[in-house]
Amino acid sequence: MKQKGLLYAGKAKSVYRTDNAKHLIVEFRDDITAFDGGKKDTLKNKGNYNANVSAFFFSYLEKHGVRTHFIRMLDENRMLVKKLTMIPLEVIVRNFAAGSIVRNYPFREGSPLRPPVIVIDYKDDSRHDPMLNDDLIIALKLATPEELKKIKAAALKVNSLLSTLLKKQGITLVDFKIEFGKAGKAICLGDEISMDSMRLWDVKTGESLDKDVYRFDKGDVMATYHRVARRIMAPKKKGKAKREKK
Ligand code: 5GP
Repeated sequence: MKQKGLLYAGKAKSVYRTDNAKHLIVEFRDDITAFDGGKKDTLKNKGNYNANVSAFFFSYLEKHGVRTHFIRMLDENRMLVKKLTMIPLEVIVRNFAAGSIVRNYPFREGSPLRPPVIVIDYKDDSRHDPMLNDDLIIALKLATPEELKKIKAAALKVNSLLSTLLKKQGITLVDFKIEFGKAGKAICLGDEISMDSMRLWDVKTGESLDKDVYRFDKGDVMATYHRVARRIMAPKKKGKAKREKK
């Protein structure tokens, strides 16, 4: 398998073609951004932590019946994935009130949301990812009603699996953002699931274990990513995600 030309470069990941038309390579770079790219830095090893945590979660979800784009890790930063036609939706599942819903609605920070709340934003930085509703998603032809139903069901399944897994490590899954794509007619989980796209709180101390440390200058973000990556992956697997054999 050979890496070919750059297909797309986002704020923290680059996507490359391969010699197989059905596969792509996602490179997790060391770049970190917040506030629509208004805050930017490059932090050594950040790509490695996010790639390996994403690979760990994708493998776990696949084992439990969630279809994902993950195939295998190629090295510390590069993931081989199935090519999907991405759906420009940011699907956010919230178990506790935090972040934008506390700023925009009368929720108290940390109050539980039972059942979990799904919020779907339109993935478009130039419009600042505006929130959608089902009618808008269908009117914009971003997904059919059947696809939307599948997307929401998959998002709730991911939430339930990851909340349970993280709770065992003493971590509360407060909220997270995922993205889906289509492989033929099948809806598949794509993009990443990492400390950049989740809000994680230590069960005992309430300490932030995610990108909020960077967003709000709460401490040493790389020390946090290092600790949380070990905490998430270490008890189950001593090494990193499965690597391609030379
Ligand atoms: P909020 O709407 O509170 O800012 O974010 C809710 C959750 O979704 C957080 O875990 C946050 O990290 C994630 N999230 C929302 N928008 C984005 C985005 O554009 N990129 C990434 N990586 N995560 C996002």
